[in-house]
Amino acid sequence: MSSVYASNPTISIGRLFKEKSTSLRNEYQRDRDRIIHCSAFRRLEYKTQVFVNHEGDMFRTRLTHSIEVSQIARSIARTLGGHEDLAETISLAHDLGHTPFGHAGQEALNKCMKKYGGFEHNLQSLRIVDNLEKRYADFNGLNLMFESREGILKHCSLKNAKKLGNIGERFIKKNQPSIEAQIVNIADEIAYINHDIDDGFRSGLLTIEDLMTNSLFKLCADDVYLTFPKINDEILINEIVRRMINLMVSDLISTSKENIHKFNPISLEEVRTLPPLVKFSPEFFKSKQEIKSYLRKSLYEHQQVKDMTNNAQHIIKILFDYFKDDPKRIPKDFKKDTTDEFERTISDYIAGMTDRYAIQLHNNLI
Ligand code: MG
Repeated sequence: MSSVYASNPTISIGRLFKEKSTSLRNEYQRDRDRIIHCSAFRRLEYKTQVFVNHEGDMFRTRLTHSIEVSQIARSIARTLGGHEDLAETISLAHDLGHTPFGHAGQEALNKCMKKYGGFEHNLQSLRIVDNLEKRYADFNGLNLMFESREGILKHCSLKNAKKLGNIGERFIKKNQPSIEAQIVNIADEIAYINHDIDDGFRSGLLTIEDLMTNSLFKLCADDVYLTFPKINDEILINEIVRRMINLMVSDLISTSKENIHKFNPISLEEVRTLPPLVKFSPEFFKSKQEIKSYLRKSLYEHQQVKDMTNNAQHIIKILFDYFKDDPKRIPKDFKKDTTDEFERTISDYIAGMTDRYAIQLHNNLI
């Protein structure tokens, strides 16, 4: 059951283009369904965060990541009185704007776009749902509800916020987003920390001994060893990761419940003006930061990952220059946003590529 402070589709600002409501689904469910049916969502299957898509079939993709985030966010939303459907919607859409090759791709595209307003994946996710998806006769984009769009725009510079109308307002006022958006932000962190540990271990880049230097990991590993002394490594990592997710989610829920109790918000409007309600306890926040910096050092900056990253950045740069030399090389059927400079269209086109498509196109050019 949603609470008084949850987002509520029946009293929302609603959609940019007014549409009749339906009796079968609430408006957030409708948004979720639009996301699932859009082409940017399907392409998440072939985009990755740490490992490039073709490195192995058992690693997470952006699609499986988004589904994991949605699972975690829904359970948290249910317990904290948020609107579960909105939490699901934001989760499934939160990574739509990612370039091929994850953060490496984003950095490279941002560099290419430096003179033309830069590139930022959050903003790109909003651009996709507001404009780039062309599926409906009445409007561009998916015409999502205000709360879905607000949740997708997790970060935004002040400069960009000023151009975004009411969706950018909270960054100017330094307000919080809805409780559902707050939940998804942290569910995203919980999901990627844990699946990067899992993928990192299974790729051979992280070892159990090395991982044991993290207090939270060690706490969970000790518990698994105590219960199953002869456990094999593959099941061990799974048992540890599920305990870690469990502990993180439990801490988040109990700390956030205390916060909600303390501030006792009576509406979404009040949630916006309060400090963040969805939070870890200070001890858990510390262990989470510890693991994140460990992952940065040991996984994201691992030589093998860095080699991939450098290669990815090189590919993005080559592709950008190739299209910039002659914008007509962008396929005609790529629906352009005609009000923008053509560099933005190039950026939209490249950002929409999957890892394998970008690699293939690059290989055809050299
Ligand atoms: Mg994510």
